[in-house]
Amino acid sequence: MTLRRRRFDSLVIGAGGGGLRAALQLARADATVAVVSKVFPTRSHTVAAQGGINAALANVLPDNWHWHMYDTIKGSDYLGDQDAIEYMCRSAAHLVYELEHAGVPFSRLDNGRIYQRPFGGQSQHFGGEQAARTCAAADRTGHAILHTLYQQNIRARTHFFDEYFAIDLIRDEQGTILGALVLDIESGEPLLIEAKTTLLATGGAGQLFRTNTNAHINTGDGLAMALRAGIPLQDMEFFQFHPTGIAGKGMLLSEGARGEGGYLLNAEGERFMERYAPHAKDLASRDVVSRAIYQEVREGRGCGPARDHVLLKVDHLGEEVVASRLPAIRQLAQTFAGVDMAKEPVPVYPTAHYTMGGIPTNRHGQVVVPVGKGEEVIPGLYAVGECACVSVHGANRLGGNSLLDIVVFGRAAGNHIIDYLRENRFHRPMSEQHLEPALAHLGHWERKGEGESVDALRSELQRTMEEYCGVFRSREVLSEGLQKVLALQQRLEGVTLHDHSRIFNTARIEAFEMENLVQLAIATVSSALAREESRGAHSRVDFPERDDERWLKHSLFYLEGRRMDYKPVRMKPLSVDSFPPKPRVY
Ligand SMILES: Cc1cc2nc3c(=O)[nH]c(=O)nc-3n(C[C@H](O)[C@H](O)[C@H](O)COP(=O)(O)OP(=O)(O)OC[C@H]3O[C@@H](n4cnc5c(N)ncnc54)[C@H](O)[C@@H]3O)c2cc1C
Repeated sequence: MTLRRRRFDSLVIGAGGGGLRAALQLARADATVAVVSKVFPTRSHTVAAQGGINAALANVLPDNWHWHMYDTIKGSDYLGDQDAIEYMCRSAAHLVYELEHAGVPFSRLDNGRIYQRPFGGQSQHFGGEQAARTCAAADRTGHAILHTLYQQNIRARTHFFDEYFAIDLIRDEQGTILGALVLDIESGEPLLIEAKTTLLATGGAGQLFRTNTNAHINTGDGLAMALRAGIPLQDMEFFQFHPTGIAGKGMLLSEGARGEGGYLLNAEGERFMERYAPHAKDLASRDVVSRAIYQEVREGRGCGPARDHVLLKVDHLGEEVVASRLPAIRQLAQTFAGVDMAKEPVPVYPTAHYTMGGIPTNRHGQVVVPVGKGEEVIPGLYAVGECACVSVHGANRLGGNSLLDIVVFGRAAGNHIIDYLRENRFHRPMSEQHLEPALAHLGHWERKGEGESVDALRSELQRTMEEYCGVFRSREVLSEGLQKVLALQQRLEGVTLHDHSRIFNTARIEAFEMENLVQLAIATVSSALAREESRGAHSRVDFPERDDERWLKHSLFYLEGRRMDYKPVRMKPLSVDSFPPKPRVY
């Protein structure tokens, strides 16, 4: 069989907000750009983002980007890189206006300005009163942004490969990335896309955990592709658990609910966040609120017959506010919990939400790996969005900062690629040898095994991760978890694959996704085991304190030999003074 080939200046893998913002920049600069997505672009997980996007517009309360920068650094538990954070917070207003002009239908204040709501971890004057920084299109902000970006890309003539599944990056002897091998899901035919630059924008890996807010497709494929290309993953021990998933189900009820004035109650009817975060209360950072809910349930103050959840109350805000500001989550609560939020509180419990770790990049989206004492750029490779770790979220992301991250760094990467294309005008030669690893990988899942089903293994992996690598961790439990995940990796080799020609290759795709998830589970548990401190979302019961002396550094996990390495946090911002670590209280 001859391999089909296509050539583009630039390949973008992933059609969420990150990929589409980058593609738009490129297409407008007349580069030929291919966007590959395993689902129709507007079904990417960005579509599900509810609460909004942060920018210090000061439409509701006083604000400025420097306060936003401080909040983001504090939220990151001082693990975020301050140059990237300054760049993001400074650009935020410009990027939001750009979205507005591109057609995003933001909610409005009476004076016509963009509506902004308070979100967790936001403050005025570096830790003072609550700020209102999250620009919202009701509680469907991601939907509005993704559809707008898709339409703009159609207008700019971006070339879309919808329902194509990326398998592996192609690289030459020097490590330059030459494109990717992808699979047409419908026909099962492989396609080789050659490109001068390849950008990974494949989103997060929420499917690592049983209860999560993510789409079924969020299996972290791009992260695993990077690992297999010899690139380490950064800070994988930091996984965000969102405090308010629908109890037992996991679907997200946006922080916007608390931003609008909602609050949490335990079985005694107590507003318990007042004890954990006297100042910010229900709008403390997500890691803080999630731990508080666990603590309440553990100490017997959970609600319901099994005392296994707490309640989110918004009914006191009145029918009108709920209907106009929180319509989509009201519908979710109705469908999945059978509760009308405008009338009674909803049962909630923390749920896996966001991958803080990822492919190490600089603020231009270039993938950067440590070499000796320095760093080296991987030529031709970029990453943005939830699969990247630039790192603006450090050990804990603030709500509303991810939609901002994807547009800011999507655009920045697009701009950098345009410069790169000016200096690198020709495709580099690709030989059969360069293709070999990817083709071998493709062939690996073309057989039929006799063992368990992929689906059963995936469920077991998700339960294992939840049990052994959840909100609270210890050496003993993590070590056991690692052994279990490694055993699952072994069992995966013997799985049954149904005849994929008859069922649109879904069995084969699921095997690829499962393989990716297992590799990421190993990365996550290994990184969590190695970090002997508690910081942001990573809580070790055996090391309950943050330890800046030993651990104010980024972790790097390599697939080969499951090796860990470390690199310093960039504490120096671009133009303002740095924010040195302080105790983090809300
Ligand atoms: C329910 C929910 C609500 C949220 N609410 C907010 C919010 O209010 N504010 C906020 O700031 N953040 C929010 N977030 C987080 C934010 O939405 C995401 O982090 C962000 O949208 C991720 O964008 P992305 O472009 O990186 O990836 P995604 O939007 O996840 O897109 C990934 C793309 O990669 C493609 N892809 C993946 N693997 C492959 C493969 N192997 N081959 C081909 N294509 C592939 C997919 O098809 C998809 O197009 C929320 C997240 C969730 C889950």
